[in-house]
Amino acid sequence: MMLRDRDRIFTNLYGFHDWRLSGARARGDWDGTRDLLAKGRDWVIEEMKTSGLRGRGGAGFPTGVKWSFMPKVEGSRPHYLVINADEGEPGTCKDRDILRHEPHKLVEGALIAGFAIGARVGYVYIRGEFVREAQNLQAAIDEARAAGLLGSNACGSGWPFELYIHRGAGAYICGEESALIESLEGKKGQPRLKPPFPAGVGLYGCPTTVNNVESIAVAPTILRRGGAWFAALGRQKNSGTKVFCISGHVNTPCNVEEEMGISLRELIETHAGGVRGGWDNLLAVIPGGSSVPVLTKDICDTVLMDFDSLRDVRSGLGTAAVIVMDKSTDIVRAISRLSRFYAHESCGQCTPCREGTGWLARIMARMVTGDAEPHEIERLDQLTRQIEGHTICALGDAAAWPIQGLIRAFRPELERRIAERQARDRAA
Ligand code: SF4
Repeated sequence: MMLRDRDRIFTNLYGFHDWRLSGARARGDWDGTRDLLAKGRDWVIEEMKTSGLRGRGGAGFPTGVKWSFMPKVEGSRPHYLVINADEGEPGTCKDRDILRHEPHKLVEGALIAGFAIGARVGYVYIRGEFVREAQNLQAAIDEARAAGLLGSNACGSGWPFELYIHRGAGAYICGEESALIESLEGKKGQPRLKPPFPAGVGLYGCPTTVNNVESIAVAPTILRRGGAWFAALGRQKNSGTKVFCISGHVNTPCNVEEEMGISLRELIETHAGGVRGGWDNLLAVIPGGSSVPVLTKDICDTVLMDFDSLRDVRSGLGTAAVIVMDKSTDIVRAISRLSRFYAHESCGQCTPCREGTGWLARIMARMVTGDAEPHEIERLDQLTRQIEGHTICALGDAAAWPIQGLIRAFRPELERRIAERQARDRAA
């Protein structure tokens, strides 16, 4: 069943309406924010837990639980809120539209989240390429400050809260929360070993919560309408709505907010005009950004789009970036291109990732042309297992999983290329 319009949180996702304060207010943003804050931190956190919202940046960790990890009292170290707007996952472009067209949802959400975790200051780390998005967000922050919605007595709540933008410089790894914190501190953006986790030792060594743009932007509506309303949408443990980014070989690529647990086929056919050439022309789909394994058509026929359903078919929801590939796709070349991406973006800190992603990229390049030896398919798979789970951050896993998915689903295609190449060599 499709999401009803009245249950949509992002009412200006496509920018058809005024995104500035007056337009945002007319659509319900900043409505009763002071009353929400007056209910207290514990109420806010409990309501977020009730909603079942799982982080929309890819990991899917429950947002309310994350907020509850922050120390209850401030002590000698200030608390910080950090919003991850470094949207760099290939295929993902949802936070971009929220920043462009719904910036006040993010600013209001930042105030509420900051209040809930005891932070008086928040930073939005925006990827450097998002020039227009940073401009709109800065304008929204300025409007909110001028209207008394931010500042020393934000919204008349008695809680002081300031929000600042920090521009990134184009490194994919700065979307990893601890690398982002390092970068925010002015250092090279390299992930930290965990523990300690940011809630204990984060920005400037202080308790910090890092959330994705979408997770923060949906919080005000959840609190206004109630955690139970959000929890009633979607499926158990996969509640609410989600912005899906549909790209690739579809007739009308788009971002769309839908209910969690919608079927992949319904999502593509209803909102993206279907697969180019019809559903039978579908080859494969990467359902959650470039870091998750590819799905073959037979799985795409029935799979549901939520964290647990996609995990059950050995893939993942990730950032909900749905990359559709029809039968014209050279699937080996497509996954090989991702391998080059990860090799390029590795921060070089740990050996399995620094060396391993280069190996993966080089072997994948040979797989594309068929110049590999048959035993290298197994070697490639073994190499991904040596990287997976043996690195400081998840980039190593992200490089390994698409290749594992390729071997699982398209091994005959790899074998065919190698055999044809060898036959050509023998004939020459
Ligand atoms: Fe850096 Fe890769 Fe290690 Fe992550 S896994 S810390 S990107 S070298």
